[in-house]
Amino acid sequence: MRRGKMVLTCLVIGVTGILCGWYGRKLLDDQTIDFSLQKEGSENVEWESKKPEAAKSTLKNVKKCWLCGNDNRSMMGYLRKFDDLGIICVNDWYVMDFQIRNRDEEGNLIGSQGHSSMTTVGNGKEACFFQTNRNSDRGISEISVEPGKESVLNVTRIKSHLCQNCLDKVLETMETYGAVGEPAKPVDLCLVDFKTLELYPLQEQNRSYYIRDYYVRIEPKEQEVDVMAVYAPVQENAE
Ligand SMILES: [Zn+2]
Ligand SMILES: [Zn+2]
Repeated sequence: MRRGKMVLTCLVIGVTGILCGWYGRKLLDDQTIDFSLQKEGSENVEWESKKPEAAKSTLKNVKKCWLCGNDNRSMMGYLRKFDDLGIICVNDWYVMDFQIRNRDEEGNLIGSQGHSSMTTVGNGKEACFFQTNRNSDRGISEISVEPGKESVLNVTRIKSHLCQNCLDKVLETMETYGAVGEPAKPVDLCLVDFKTLELYPLQEQNRSYYIRDYYVRIEPKEQEVDVMAVYAPVQENAE
């Protein structure tokens, strides 16, 4: 009897351990939702992943690339000096920076400033509408984006402004899931790390990322997507 109890206890602890291990791994990984699994068994709708077709860059002077180069029309030349993340509205090439931590014009950390800030930026009715809610004193910043009618990726609008490498990177972030046979409609948004120039998808299925010292949580709502970035370095202090 006693032995039976012990075996049961061991079993419970074992299973809990495995579950905790699994959940821990889930938390550590970048997360995406598997739409094909979610949809299984519902109304015979077959889902598939859709990747945009490769496109050829028509930019002649690669130094003017809107992501890795310098051009008056792109904020990237200025924003690259900041250790920060941002969201790009790709069609209009509008870049909104999170300002996760307070920094001066040169990108140096300036510590707590005793205030938070909110801004709204819209680029016409049809384009993406941005709202920011920054608490840089705490290393937390949220950007909400409401896509408009014109917010479906338009490759024609960007291929003459990005070098081939950057155009490929942008297109790689535009994978979507949808019913078989239906045209893909990727929203023209992606996340950018100003330090590495890595791009991260912000489509329907993406939920979170760990990017260097930052954690990013993506929450799609009916009309908008809320993206929160937090300064969350690995804890190294031990007592
Ligand atoms: Zn480039
Ligand atoms: Zn947009």
